[in-house]
Amino acid sequence: MIIDVITIFPEMFTHVVGSSIIKRARRSRVVTVGVHDLRRFSHDKHRKVDDRPYGGGPGMVMQAEPFFEAVASVRRRRQAAKSRIVLLSPQGRPLTQAIAQRLAKQAHLILLCGHYEGIDERVRRALVDEELSIGDYVLTGGELPAMVVIDAVVRLLPGALGDVESTASESFADGLLEYPHYTRPRVYRKMAVPKILLTGHHAAIAAWRQRQAQARTRRRRPDLLVRSPKS
Ligand code: SAM
Repeated sequence: MIIDVITIFPEMFTHVVGSSIIKRARRSRVVTVGVHDLRRFSHDKHRKVDDRPYGGGPGMVMQAEPFFEAVASVRRRRQAAKSRIVLLSPQGRPLTQAIAQRLAKQAHLILLCGHYEGIDERVRRALVDEELSIGDYVLTGGELPAMVVIDAVVRLLPGALGDVESTASESFADGLLEYPHYTRPRVYRKMAVPKILLTGHHAAIAAWRQRQAQARTRRRRPDLLVRSPKS
């Protein structure tokens, strides 16, 4: 898979794409991540990519032209006929595990990061395939949301995690929160590991974990039990 990001702060991505699972996935060619400076596509001598809003009002709006040219350049470079363009926006659909799973099947994702008051509406209308939000709050820019999308997607790619089982049973994968985990020591501050986990009885342990996952979901996120996963 290829993920390209278009941003005015490319340096923000250095540590996230250069660490942990994403770093390993890039090294093993599971994913290629390109981060592109939107200012390279500005026609202004000061590399400005924003301007005042028509109709007045506070703040600045990111111009359409640099985004259109940046996307065209990325597409040319990747020779990818089939790319999906995602705008990070507080007005987008809230990101879910089901959406991450769907995006993980794409060959090429292009993530657009907004700033200031947002982006000229013509980018949404004519360039973007979908808008994603990472929650009902407003951040300064689309970079942190883009990193969240990259992380959620890359860890689902075959070969990204050491143990293929580890994404199958985790929270949201089957509509439930995951069961509780324990490791050594057996007793810590008078809190003992549940006896069932020490029995070696795999079927009984699996049944206990399933019951725990259901009880935990009912208690903490009952909405998940009535909602079927949507992508
Ligand atoms: N004026 C916009 C509004 O009210 O909808 C908010 C613009 S916000 C300050 C600047 C940029 O940050 C957005 O264009 C978007 O790319 C990004 N952003 C902010 N909050 C976000 C969220 N919850 N999810 C995804 N992107 C977000």
